[in-house]
Amino acid sequence: MDYDIAIIGAGVAGSYLGSLLRNVLEDKKIVIFEQLEKPIIKDSGIVSMNIEKFIEKRTLRKLIRKKIKRMQLFSPNGKRIVLSTKKPFAYGLKRKDFIKTLRSPIKDMIKYEHVLSVKLRSDCALVTTENDKYFIRFLVGCDGANSLTRKAMVERGETKQPTLLYGAFVQQKPTKYVKVYLNKFYSPDFFAWNFFGEYGLATSYRPRAHLDYFLKKQDVKPKRIFASPIPIGLIKSFTDRCILVGDAASQVKPLTGGGIIYSLKAATYACDVIKKAFSLSRFDSYVLRSYEKKWKEDFGNEIKRGIEVRKIYRKMTNKQINEAFDLFKNDVEEAFARQAVKQYDYLSSITSSIPKKKITKFMLKNLSLLR
Ligand SMILES: Cc1cc2nc3c(=O)[nH]c(=O)nc-3n(C[C@H](O)[C@H](O)[C@H](O)COP(=O)(O)OP(=O)(O)OC[C@H]3O[C@@H](n4cnc5c(N)ncnc54)[C@H](O)[C@@H]3O)c2cc1C
Repeated sequence: MDYDIAIIGAGVAGSYLGSLLRNVLEDKKIVIFEQLEKPIIKDSGIVSMNIEKFIEKRTLRKLIRKKIKRMQLFSPNGKRIVLSTKKPFAYGLKRKDFIKTLRSPIKDMIKYEHVLSVKLRSDCALVTTENDKYFIRFLVGCDGANSLTRKAMVERGETKQPTLLYGAFVQQKPTKYVKVYLNKFYSPDFFAWNFFGEYGLATSYRPRAHLDYFLKKQDVKPKRIFASPIPIGLIKSFTDRCILVGDAASQVKPLTGGGIIYSLKAATYACDVIKKAFSLSRFDSYVLRSYEKKWKEDFGNEIKRGIEVRKIYRKMTNKQINEAFDLFKNDVEEAFARQAVKQYDYLSSITSSIPKKKITKFMLKNLSLLR
């Protein structure tokens, strides 16, 4: 074998997992394949306070761009829901510095090679890069939303493809506020945003046309557009000799598109199972399934509920969104103020705080949403 462990991708999931594995499996030969030497900015870097569990305090302080205590949701007819808390419920990170920080302890483990294909065999995983072929005892796919590792699992009937939304944004002069627009003309199946002067949206349908329209309405002239896919779905994340972590495993919140904290959490669960697999010298699905059990116990239900809420939201018209704003505004504002500091990674708990009576009333009036 060329390596005991290969991780594909030195993004959030791969970099963090690499540093955890280095500490617990010192004697193993570990490599991380990464295609880009200079990390790109691909997201807004908004994370819950749970980031404090993963990054040491002093380092984190230098990575915080903004502390977020207030966010405004706008309906198509301009009504507002103001989500605010006394203490910050989220941080806006300096995204480039964040990934540099994660990569710094694993610099020497990274091979900057583009992986062209992955084959999962019973005796090893075969990874072919632009430079060479490598025989790997254990493979971890941290290769993002368009994961090649996941593709190899899909081809063997081991998992399925998640839905891909396309997120795109442009950076303008910083503003002081976070605004989120729920408007079908901007994004038919997600939302558009202005996060402190970063204007963007995600949708699975004609992303560029919607972005152009949104930017025109916001009076923003686009310069450079950053665009990346966002996976949505609850999928299987393990097979013999291989697991998926982060966007590759679709570990993303369906209500916000946020995946940084879930990727970090999943990396810790992945580290535990890989350590166990090497101690038993067993790399079969039977041993690896405890990885999936752990992450699904933590945030699998949240993903499931988020998908259900999204299903309804996708069918809603702008008129129905306006109605929902009028009906649920107070409940959502109160529940958010109470829960968001602790529960920002589990936002569906806020929808479950809305009185059932009100939801039933809304659904009965809009029966088409249940079909
Ligand atoms: C527009 C947008 C806004 C977002 N905003 C937020 C936000 O505010 N907060 C939040 O929590 N999340 C946000 N996300 C989601 C977040 O970016 C991801 O969930 C997170 O980056 C997942 O990390 P990852 O390591 O799994 O994947 P990635 O960060 O995508 O890392 C994958 C790595 O694998 C490498 N790679 C891929 N294929 C290969 C290959 N074949 N060979 C070698 N290397 C390869 C890539 O170069 C990359 O470095 C946003 C996403 C988008 C698109």
